[in-house]
Amino acid sequence: MSVPASEMANSHKLDLIIVGAGFAGLYMLHRARQLGFNARILEAGQGAGGTWYWNRYPGARCDIESMQYSYQFDKALEQEWIWTERYASQPEILTYVEHVIKRFNLSHDIQYNARVASAVFDDQHSRWTVTTTQGESYDAQFCVNSSAPVLPLAQPPPPPPPLASHCAVAMSVAHCSMVAYCALATGSCRPPPWGSAVLGLARMRELAGAARSTRAAT
Ligand SMILES: Cc1cc2nc3c(=O)[nH]c(=O)nc-3n(C[C@H](O)[C@H](O)[C@H](O)COP(=O)(O)OP(=O)(O)OC[C@H]3O[C@@H](n4cnc5c(N)ncnc54)[C@H](O)[C@@H]3O)c2cc1C
Repeated sequence: MSVPASEMANSHKLDLIIVGAGFAGLYMLHRARQLGFNARILEAGQGAGGTWYWNRYPGARCDIESMQYSYQFDKALEQEWIWTERYASQPEILTYVEHVIKRFNLSHDIQYNARVASAVFDDQHSRWTVTTTQGESYDAQFCVNSSAPVLPLAQPPPPPPPLASHCAVAMSVAHCSMVAYCALATGSCRPPPWGSAVLGLARMRELAGAARSTRAAT
């Protein structure tokens, strides 16, 4: 679909739009910057942290060890952060997220209260038009969806995303729940029942690499 000229004039032009400021989206932003992309996160909530921003019920905590539930892309970050509990509580995970945002100076490329309503790919110009429910419009070469809906276990899985376009354009679907189905379709593993930080981050790394190759080729 072509974007009307009037709309383009009002839209923010970027290399990469990332949907969601959870663990996956934040890492994607950091990685994209390292690769020289002009990127921005659009986040529906008023703060970052995703799962850990929204889930604040008493007793909420991770069920794998805090050490493993940590970013592992930066040795200094790993050394400087000391978890106080073996299985971190939600408030501590959120504090960790805020520390990471500060540490890597991510905040000025995160837009809060920005719920993405649509992301439309223009085949002709190979660009995305991403719009928010507030009516803002963004024009970007890449769009990475790290909004990560976790599948309720009782629900049947969604169909796998179309792999050809998915992998070729590096734009794409990075729902935790979907990652497993890509892996399944390529025969590499069985789908785990829910999304995890490990899966989300692995997919982000893959997408960043694919974006770099696509960009180098254009
Ligand atoms: C209570 C609980 C405990 C968990 N414990 C563990 C654990 O111990 N170990 C583990 O590996 N995993 C655990 N998980 C899974 C957890 O979801 C992942 O570990 C990880 O936090 C997912 O990160 P993410 O960035 O992929 O997605 P999320 O954290 O879900 O972030 C997605 C973000 O996208 C935003 N968003 C959604 N739609 C839009 C939109 N239309 N426009 C803009 N923004 C949007 C959301 O507001 C959210 O901030 C747990 C989940 C829950 C709920």
